[in-house]
Amino acid sequence: MVSINKRSDFPADLKRNHRKKSLGFVPTMGALHEGHLTLIRAAKKQCEAVICSIFVNPTQFNNQDDFEKYPRVLDEDLKLLEREGVDYVFCPSGEDMYHRQSSIEFNVKHFDDVMEGAHRKGHFNGVLQIVLRLFNIIEPDKAFFGLKDLQQYSLIKTVSEDLFLPLEIVGVPTVRSDDGLALSSRNRRLSHEGLGLAKELNVALSKAKMSYNTFHDVLKAKQVGVSHLDEKGIVIEYFEECDADNFRAPNSDTQRLALCLAADIEGVRLIDNIVFMK
Ligand code: AMP
Repeated sequence: MVSINKRSDFPADLKRNHRKKSLGFVPTMGALHEGHLTLIRAAKKQCEAVICSIFVNPTQFNNQDDFEKYPRVLDEDLKLLEREGVDYVFCPSGEDMYHRQSSIEFNVKHFDDVMEGAHRKGHFNGVLQIVLRLFNIIEPDKAFFGLKDLQQYSLIKTVSEDLFLPLEIVGVPTVRSDDGLALSSRNRRLSHEGLGLAKELNVALSKAKMSYNTFHDVLKAKQVGVSHLDEKGIVIEYFEECDADNFRAPNSDTQRLALCLAADIEGVRLIDNIVFMK
């Protein structure tokens, strides 16, 4: 595996016009788990070479404490990537990625108004600041994103299509532990009890989906999910529905619904979602 630590060290023969192989890109913030490794395996299946980035992006954190406490285990991560047969890993510094004050700020219309956008002011601006920089440096043919961060995936796909970016955005289904908990780097910060509680997020979403399939009433379905979390004493930040394909309010054209939630467990912010036919 080739390690690249600086923008200026990016191999010229890896750029789109010079390389002979298709290149798959998996952006991450490290503290890798099976969810990340599943993205890498998907990239390896679909592309001839794979590059993974590890960068804890400061601009997408609206909470400094969350940024500082974000797990950082680079040596462990590099071993995992080597074992997966990743070809290149890009681990730039903050100074390299943000070499000067950005001259642009992204205002992403309705994505900023709901769920992660509404609850984490500036989050999606930060996501786009880093992802578009990485796309420009790496010039991948395909980039792989987890559907656990459904709104982020939808945003990046939409923006890439709006701007005719010359790459394909691929979504990869959420990887869960046996008890249904969506894998997340943040789970490392939970105690044994916290992990037990965190699995209730998926239970709540599944109950809400079952309710919807029986009564076809989104408000009722949400109430079922919210009640379940209330009973467990879990603090909900939001529990909302949208059209799964564009993150707008569902309307008569909507085919797939998404229920998305954010909750606080032991001071750790967790998100999850479930998608089903309307
Ligand atoms: P992160 O390191 O948390 O920024 O995540 C990097 C990528 O891995 C993002 O595209 C996430 O959506 C994806 N990812 C994180 N957790 C999971 C999971 N449990 N299943 C699938 N993809 C995931």
